[in-house]
Amino acid sequence: MEIAANRVVGLSYTMRDVSQDEELERYDKDDLDYYIHGQQGFFPGLERALEGCVVGDTFDIVLEPQDAFGEYNPKEVQSVSRDEFPDDFELEVGLFIELVSADAQDADEDEGVIYWIKEFGEKEVLIDGNHPLAGKKLHFQGEVVEVRDATDEELAHGHVHTDGCHHDDA
Ligand code: ZN
Repeated sequence: MEIAANRVVGLSYTMRDVSQDEELERYDKDDLDYYIHGQQGFFPGLERALEGCVVGDTFDIVLEPQDAFGEYNPKEVQSVSRDEFPDDFELEVGLFIELVSADAQDADEDEGVIYWIKEFGEKEVLIDGNHPLAGKKLHFQGEVVEVRDATDEELAHGHVHTDGCHHDDA
């Protein structure tokens, strides 16, 4: 079966940061990474390369930032007062926080914007709205291990249900 829209794809691969020559992610054959093809939930550049591939095909591809987590945008970095955080909040570099604007508190939790803490001092906290991997060129090497049609439920949920995974979200 070829990789095509609305099929579940299971991959084993390594993802490396090219500039640092650092391994960022590894999925072995007994611990695959799954995505639904054509639903924009995966790396666009990698999906394009995998279109039409079958089980057993290997891939070795370098993605420019715009095909991975986007270019780094310095405007997404902002400074907020430490007073904005609760007193007992333990600040930590790399910690993800979600900011919800005051007028959106009743809205979906999707309305919040995710930032991560870049650095902090006694008065100021520098938060970054870029994905931590924004601006990075990423090297993927791996193999297509599984391809199957997505179930109606998976398509409705927009994510893959792997063996033994049960949940109630709709
Ligand atoms: Zn689900």
